[in-house]
Amino acid sequence: KASVIDGVEFENKFLPESPEDSIAKSELERLQADRKTLPIYRLRDELLQAVNDYQVLVIVGETGSGKTTQIPQYLHEAGYTKRGKIGCTQPRRVAAMSVAARVSQEMGVKLGHEVGYSIRFEDCTSEKTVIKYMTDGMLLREFLGEPDLASYSVVMVDEAHERTLSTDILFGLLKDIARYRTDLKLLISSATLDAEKFSEYFDAPIFKIPGRRYPVEIHYTKSPEADYIDAAIVTVLQIHVTQSPGDVLVFFTGQEEIEAAEEILKHRTRGLGTKISELIICPIYANLPTELQAKIFEPTPEGARKVVLATNIAETSLTIDGIKYVIDPGFCKIKSYNPRTGMESLLVTPISKASALQRAGRSGRTGPGKCFRLYTAYSYHHDMDDNTVPEIQRTNLANVVLTLKSLGIHNLVDFDFLDPPPSEALLRALELLFALSALNSLGELTKLGRRMAEFPLDPMLSKTIVASDKYQCSDEIISIAAMLSVGNSIFYRPKDKQVHADNARLNFHTGNVGDHIALLKVYSSWKETNFSTQWCYENYIQVRSMKRARDIRDQLQGLLERVEIELTSNPNDLDAIKKAITSGFFHHTAKMQKNGSYRTVKNPQTVYIHPSSGLAQELPRWVIYHELVLTTKEYMRQVTELKPEWLVEIAPHYYQMKDVEESGSKKMPRGKGRAVMD
Ligand code: ADP
Ligand code: MG
Repeated sequence: KASVIDGVEFENKFLPESPEDSIAKSELERLQADRKTLPIYRLRDELLQAVNDYQVLVIVGETGSGKTTQIPQYLHEAGYTKRGKIGCTQPRRVAAMSVAARVSQEMGVKLGHEVGYSIRFEDCTSEKTVIKYMTDGMLLREFLGEPDLASYSVVMVDEAHERTLSTDILFGLLKDIARYRTDLKLLISSATLDAEKFSEYFDAPIFKIPGRRYPVEIHYTKSPEADYIDAAIVTVLQIHVTQSPGDVLVFFTGQEEIEAAEEILKHRTRGLGTKISELIICPIYANLPTELQAKIFEPTPEGARKVVLATNIAETSLTIDGIKYVIDPGFCKIKSYNPRTGMESLLVTPISKASALQRAGRSGRTGPGKCFRLYTAYSYHHDMDDNTVPEIQRTNLANVVLTLKSLGIHNLVDFDFLDPPPSEALLRALELLFALSALNSLGELTKLGRRMAEFPLDPMLSKTIVASDKYQCSDEIISIAAMLSVGNSIFYRPKDKQVHADNARLNFHTGNVGDHIALLKVYSSWKETNFSTQWCYENYIQVRSMKRARDIRDQLQGLLERVEIELTSNPNDLDAIKKAITSGFFHHTAKMQKNGSYRTVKNPQTVYIHPSSGLAQELPRWVIYHELVLTTKEYMRQVTELKPEWLVEIAPHYYQMKDVEESGSKKMPRGKGRAVMD
C-alpha cells in the first residue's frame, strides 16, 4: 500500500491506494487546499501570537473548526518542535489514531514518523516524532517516567470539555509543572462548553474561533419511544426515502447496539431492493479495526446516502463531513460508581442537554441540517440534566490514586482539582489500595504498590499479576490479563450460526473451569496452532481480538521483566491460577442465593451471572467476578468458582471466617458446580 512522493515513503490507511505519484501528489495538494478552508485558518497568525504571548491558553471552537488537526501543525510550522515535541491528548483512542492518521496525511509523512500516536498497549511513534497524539491516560502515565515532561515544548489538552478522569488529573499536574517549566506552552481546547471555568482555573485568556454554523431544525417524537434502536432504524429509512440528499449520523451507546442496528438495517434495505437508492452503512466505535474506521471519511458516491452508526465519539471528537441529518436516541453509556458500596458499573443513561446540543450541531456544519430526537420535547426540558457530571465524580479512583502516589503526591485532599471528587470516593480508593497492600497504613506506596503502578491496568488486575509470582503462574496470568483487557470481543456469534458458535465456545469451558481459565485455554490453544487464523475461524474466535491480546501480552511480559518477576508457568494447577486471581479480585466475590441469584459478599447487593458466562448454568456456590455490567439486571461478567477459605487465606485483613462460613454452623454441601479439576 506504500507509494513514494518526493522520496518520502507514503503509506496511509485513510487514503485510497495511489499507484502513481502524480495522483498522490494532487491528493496532497487537495489536502493542503482543504486546510485553508477551515475556520481556524484565518486566525492562524493571531493564534500563534497568542501562544507566544501567554504560557497557558484556553481555545474554544466549534467541532470541525480545525483545532485538533491544525493547531499542532501551525505550532510545528512556527518552529515549536525545535525545542521539543508537541503532545495533544484525546479522551478516546479512536480519535487519537484517526486524527494522527489525518495529520500525517496532510503533512505527507508516514504515520509513526513525524506524526504518531500513542494509546494504551500501542505506541505508534518513533525517534522522529514531533507531533504526538495520545490518549489523556497515556500522557498521565508519561508523568511517571518524565515528571516535568521535559521532552515536550507544547502540551495541548484537547476535548477538555469531556472532563474525563485522566484529563481532570492532567489539569492539576500540568498547572503545577507550568509554574517551573516556564518554557512549556499549555493549550486547553474545548468545544465551547466550560471555557470560563478553564480560564479561571488556569488564569488564562480564552481564544475563540468563530465557527460557521447553519440552522438546525429540531424534531422531537410526539410520545416516548419504547425501543430506541428500532425507532432509530425506522427513522433512518424514513429519511432515506423522503429527504433530500445528505448523510445521516445516528448515535448509539456502544458496539453491541451498533452491530445489532447494522444487521437490521442491512436486512431491511435488502428487502426493499431497488425501490430505494443505495444506503452505505458505516459503523464507528472504539474496537472497530482501523481499515474500517477509514470508511466513514470516504466521500459518498453520487446518488447514494451514507449512514454513520456511531458511539459518543462522533459527538465532538471526530468530524465527519457531509452529515445533514442527525438521529439522537438520547442515551449514552457511562460509568457509574457507588462510593458507598465500592461498586462500579456501566450503564445506559440519558444524555445531558449539552450533549444533545452538540449532537444536533453535527448536522449543521456544511449547510442547514435536521436533528431527529427520539424523545419528547418535554423530556428534553424536564428530564435531562444541563451537563454531564465529570467522570472524576462518578468513578472508582483507585487507579488514579495509585498513579498520583507514585508521582509522590501524598496529600490528595490538597491536590488542585478543577472539581474535587467526593471525599468518600477518595477514601474508598485509599482503602482498596491498602487492602491490596499497595499502600501501607500511613498511606505510603509500598514496594508492591510501586510494582503495580508499572502496569497500565486496573489495580486489581495489576495486583493479580504481581501476586502470580507467588503462585508460580505469571505466564498464565498475563495471558488471562491480556485476554480480559481486550474486552468482550473474543467470541464471535453470527446470527445464522449461533448454535455452532455456542458449541465452539463451550469447548473451552469443559470441566466448568470458569471464564478466566476458559480465556486462558483460548489463548493457549491459539498459540499451540502457531497463532493460526484458520483455527480462529473454525472456533468462532475473532482473530483481530486475539492479535490484540497477543500484543498486550507481549507488553505485559516486558513489564514483568521490569518489575523483576520471572515468567513462571503452572498450567495444570488451576487452583494456583485462581488463587492469583483471588489475590487481586477478592473484593469481587459473590455467593449464590436460594433462587439462583447472587449476593455480593461485602456490601451486599443482588447480582447475576451474565448469560454469556460458562458458569451461567452451573451456578457455583461461591464466585469471583471480573466486572459488573448493568443491562436488564446487574450482571457479573467473567466469573470463576472460588473456594471461600481462599478468601481468609489470601486476604485475612479483609475477610474473617464469619464472612465465609455458611449460615448455621455446619457447612452446606457444595453445588453441582464443583470444578472437576480442583
Ligand atoms: P476540531 O478539532 O476543531 O473539531 P478537526 O481538526 O478535528 O476539528 O477537524 C477539521 C477537519 O478535518 C474536519 O472538517 C474534517 O473534515 C477533517 N478531518 C479530521 N479528521 C479526519 C480524518 N480522520 N479523516 C478525514 N478528515 C478528517
Ligand atoms: Mg477536535
